[in-house]
Parts: sequence; C-alpha cells; structure tokens
Amino acid sequence: MIDDRPVMDDHLHLDPDAHRGIDAVRDFARVGGTHLLVVNKPSWHLGVEAETGADFRPVFERTIEIVDEAASELEGNAWPVLGVHPGLITRLVDDRGFDPEEARDLMQAGIDVAAEYVDSGEALALKSGRPHYEVDDDVWAASNAVMRRAFERGAELDCAVQLHAEASEDMTEVADWAADAGLPSHRVVKHYASGRLEGPTPSVMADKDRLQTAAERGEPFLMETDYIDDPDRPGAVLGPKTVPRRVRWLLENGFEEAVRMAHVETPKQVYSIDTEATLERD
Ligand SMILES: [Zn+2]
Repeated sequence: MIDDRPVMDDHLHLDPDAHRGIDAVRDFARVGGTHLLVVNKPSWHLGVEAETGADFRPVFERTIEIVDEAASELEGNAWPVLGVHPGLITRLVDDRGFDPEEARDLMQAGIDVAAEYVDSGEALALKSGRPHYEVDDDVWAASNAVMRRAFERGAELDCAVQLHAEASEDMTEVADWAADAGLPSHRVVKHYASGRLEGPTPSVMADKDRLQTAAERGEPFLMETDYIDDPDRPGAVLGPKTVPRRVRWLLENGFEEAVRMAHVETPKQVYSIDTEATLERD
C-alpha cells in the first residue's frame, strides 16, 4: 500500500480467458493498488453475438466471477460495472442487418439485464454511452435513447452510470438528460476523460498532463487506465500498474488533496462506496 491509502482504478477490463486476467490484478496490488472497478468487455470480444437481452448474461456473469477472484487479491475490494458497449450499434447496423430501432431495442434490453445485477447487489454500476466516432443521425438518436434508458435504470436503482462517449470537455446536455430522468449528474461518469469536464464526473486517464489539470482544478474526479487486457493491442491503453504509480507521482508533487479526492471523496459521492472502510490495515 502507499501510506495506508486506498488507490482505485475506476475503469479497467480483465480477460481471464484470452490474456493476463488475475495476473494484472496482482501487478496492480504489488505497486499499491487497492480497489478496482472492472467493466465487462464488449460482448462481441467474448464471441457473444447477442440477439436478446438475456444473451448478455454470460458476459456479465464472467465479469462477476473474475471480480470475485480479483477482490481476493486486493487489500481493498473490486466491483463489477456492467452494461452494453455503445460501439455494438455499429456492428448490429453495419454487419448484422439491424435497423437502428431494432439495435436500440436490443441494447436497451441488455441494459435492463445489467440493471438486474445491480438490483441484486452483484454489480455496482451501469455502463452505457454513445459512439465516439461519426455516425448517421438515426444511429445517433438510437444511441442517445439507449443511454437515456441507462439513466432511467440508474435513477431507479440509485446507482452510477459510466459512459463511453465522444471526446468532449462539455457534456452538460447529457448530464441534464440524466437529471431529467432522476439521476443526479455527478452520478454520471465519463470514462476516458481529460482533466476537465463540465457536466458528468470525469474518470481521468492516468497520464501526467491530464492528472495535473484535474488536480489543479480541484473538482471531483476519478482515475483510470482503461486497461483492456488484450494481447492484440498491447500498447492501446495504460498498463494495470499506472494508477498506483501516478498516485505516487501526485503525492511527490504536493497533490495530496487531489489524491484523496480521486480515491476517497469522489468514489463515495459517485458510487456510495467507502474505500477507506473496505481497506484491511495491518
Ligand atoms: Zn474500457
């Protein structure tokens, strides 16, 4: 541990079958990481071509299994974040002959199934969003409708919703949609965020420039790697040791309050988790 502190990676993936799986968690823990939010991989990466909402279940259940295993390796805890990757709409429309409305219905059904796991206490939060690349207007509208379904479920369950979305530093419109559905905007988390964001809570990629911006800004933020545990894309994202290493770097540079913000205060506000109480201290 780093001075008995909780250190949380807000968004990473683990692939027990295709790549490093639990070894990545051991690497994270060895350098001081204590808490993880593990997001299910996109369904098609696990060979699942869903036709109904129920077809997402094996994806979610595999994630819950690896999170149980991960938690036993950590001095803190690990939680699953479950949902439907927004890029699925392009696969459905371009490759599988769905029209955008059919794709919307299937993806909303997947969100509903993910919400069942939050309701039963097996998952912490939902994952949704919209494509980060240009799409036709009807695909965009369908994607926004899927995201709004996630906000409705999040509001009912009182849980956070992580978003995968376009690069932007102003997502107040999306945060307003969440608020309209009854989900407070701070419970919407934009994953892969830069150091500043209006609207949702930013989950900031753990590179030094972005972190310095977030730390100096003084607003709530989280830290993540988006580690994808994919042997075909080794350099695509940051490795599992990055968040603990950047916490050390922030502390060396006097950003003590920002570290507390990202690893204690913001997790409490956004997810209602207590990273200090869930830490085993010797
Ligand atoms: Zn991711």
